[in-house]
Amino acid sequence: MKKIYLDAGHGGKDSGAVGNGLLEKNLVLKLQQYMISFLNTNYTGFTLQTTRTTDTFLSLSERASKANAWGADVFMSIHVNAGGGTGYEDYIYNGSVSSATVNYRNRVHEQVIPVLAAYNHTNRGKKAANFAVLRLTNMPAVLTEIAFIDTTKDANLLKNEAFLQAMANAYARGIAVYLNLPVRQSTVYTIQAGDTLYKIARMYSVTVQQIQAANPGIDPSALQIGQQIRIPS
Ligand SMILES: [Zn+2]
Repeated sequence: MKKIYLDAGHGGKDSGAVGNGLLEKNLVLKLQQYMISFLNTNYTGFTLQTTRTTDTFLSLSERASKANAWGADVFMSIHVNAGGGTGYEDYIYNGSVSSATVNYRNRVHEQVIPVLAAYNHTNRGKKAANFAVLRLTNMPAVLTEIAFIDTTKDANLLKNEAFLQAMANAYARGIAVYLNLPVRQSTVYTIQAGDTLYKIARMYSVTVQQIQAANPGIDPSALQIGQQIRIPS
């Protein structure tokens, strides 16, 4: 089992970056939740821990300590930028880092590139900095800065759930590729007249909840004939 540690930045008394009616501390929780859903839906062979899933504050050293104590295999700190720029960038520690760290960052970065292109969002590149969570963690660690909260163009992307989800999925795919996680096997089922999720669940000996988890956004009351859904195995 590979251990994935997700560190949603800021929280509680620390809002992080603020602008255009948005708070960084809330956006990073959303990104993290999209990442968790994507990982659970598409991969096996991992366990996951987080700094926080609610609006609480932990210090930078507490975040790193938590990941170190757990023995995480990989660490991602999720942030939103500020300062008037535009675009995406990611960071590794600017001191000596392992080749695994470089490899991990490259896997994340290459997954993000097509999303940036699709949303015409600038790629500010692969960067290095002396950030505490990168310096204090013992495992390969990357810090992502999705966009600038105080730039109107970027803020509009941050208000677009499809963009947030696409970026989160890219982060998650980068982690999965780096860790070489097994892809979750599933069967594709085509909805027939009269089907309900309950009936399909019975047919495949899975639960309705498992089907819903494998098909994010599915509306059980609005299944359409011919619609294809995934049945987790
Ligand atoms: Zn931040």
